[in-house]
Amino acid sequence: MAKGRIEVSENYCKSCGLCVAACPVKVLRISDKINAKGHRPVEQYKEGCIACGMCAMSCPDAAIEVYRIEEE
Ligand code: SF4
Ligand code: SF4
Repeated sequence: MAKGRIEVSENYCKSCGLCVAACPVKVLRISDKINAKGHRPVEQYKEGCIACGMCAMSCPDAAIEVYRIEEE
């Protein structure tokens, strides 16, 4: 299965949680950080992202970019 990682544009995230719910492997969570708008941005907190793109597609604010990690 593909491996991936995500990057969150933290200041675009409004902590709605849609991406957390959408992730099939449950590697996302609302972080303890506070962004410029006073929201807690999402973070990937453990390995296991499969680069499926569901989080990015579910985000109403386009705050997530998904990257596929090429296997060695
Ligand atoms: S790309 Fe898929 S597996 Fe990776 S964090 Fe997003 S929803 Fe989860
Ligand atoms: S769906 Fe987008 S705005 Fe909502 S918590 Fe996830 S990254 Fe933040």
